[in-house]
Amino acid sequence: MTENGDIPPNLRFKTGVKVRNSKALYRFEGYVVEELNCQEIGAQIKLRFDERKPARCPECNDRLPRNRPGSSAAMDMPLGEGLVVWIIFPTIQGYCRTCQCYQTTRPAEIHPEARATWRFMRTVSDWASVAPATAVAAMFEISDHTVRRYDKKVLEADLPKPQLDGLRAILIDEKAVRRGHSYVTVVINADTGELVYMAEGRKKQTLAAFFDQLTAEQRASIEAVGIDRSGAYQAVIEEYLPGAAIVYDRLHLVANINAAIDEVRRTQWREASAEDKAAIKGSRYILYANSGGLEPDPQARLDRLLEANQPISLAYQLKEQFRVICEYRYTACAAKALESWCEMTQTSDMKSFERLARSFRKSAGKVVAFIKHRVTSGRIEGLNNQVAKVVHRACGVRDLDYLFLRLRHQTVMR
Ligand SMILES: [Zn+2]
Repeated sequence: MTENGDIPPNLRFKTGVKVRNSKALYRFEGYVVEELNCQEIGAQIKLRFDERKPARCPECNDRLPRNRPGSSAAMDMPLGEGLVVWIIFPTIQGYCRTCQCYQTTRPAEIHPEARATWRFMRTVSDWASVAPATAVAAMFEISDHTVRRYDKKVLEADLPKPQLDGLRAILIDEKAVRRGHSYVTVVINADTGELVYMAEGRKKQTLAAFFDQLTAEQRASIEAVGIDRSGAYQAVIEEYLPGAAIVYDRLHLVANINAAIDEVRRTQWREASAEDKAAIKGSRYILYANSGGLEPDPQARLDRLLEANQPISLAYQLKEQFRVICEYRYTACAAKALESWCEMTQTSDMKSFERLARSFRKSAGKVVAFIKHRVTSGRIEGLNNQVAKVVHRACGVRDLDYLFLRLRHQTVMR
């Protein structure tokens, strides 16, 4: 601004005239800005070829003969208060001898199919990683569909491919990704948290397809595989990775214990008097909580319940004891502690715990293996949270490839 508040003459321009130094805002290699038109409905940036530079094939960068001229348009970053910006650029169609097909020129800064600049698409993609697609769509005045389309193309171009070399420990799990029981199988690098594989289904073949894509060397590097006890994956792992240790991961073991507690709680509820029912009611989640991890209020309720109901109290103690075993640092000590836990539990007169103890005893090595192989469940827990967030943000997305890329982004770029 000058002293009297006027715009300096060198900054004044009318609509539809040549702009100076536009390269600071609009840099397209091999093109120059010819015109900038602003109207209330939006802005148009008109490019022309830089005559000093020859036309080049967008794929191989070889020179392209100038055959058929035309023009095309692409959306760019909004200007000012959300003014929609279109880049209008000339095109030339010519036969590229290297690619052996007809190619149409375009600035490298513009996506070949999306009719948008890469920088605009990357901005939309950045927002899509933190906000729901509908909110991003409203922000840029485009549709949700377009938000997801840009986001997917950017992730396809920018995300590194899954790192399958040198995997030491992996976690395999199934996840419900859509409403109405549609499951996917996921494989995570247990050390880095990177999501390396995701496919529809939770059968043996679903996992076998992952192992099939690994080289013999990549398979040999895997020394431990964390899974849920009850899944269908065990046989496939033994077949493809005979040298790897199977580890029952902690998150699922804790879930098993919680399910056993829940069964005891429900049995007690059925048999309880009206008065005792009141104490049991709504106690499900306070029973899952770690001892000492509750606020004073729920803790008092838990204490009252444990005092009043002997079987629930015993179930809770068994859970807490199992949790202590999970904190052990030496496998041999944990194995010994697990053995006495199983012995005690098998005579507890609670069916759900007895079943669990029998099963734990049969595969005690796999129950305590996570200590030796340093396979923790934090990565699965982290992924669970990401799945929930990403599915919510994508607003019921049906495209599994997109979901995989979005989740990979969250696990790789943290
Ligand atoms: Zn070419």
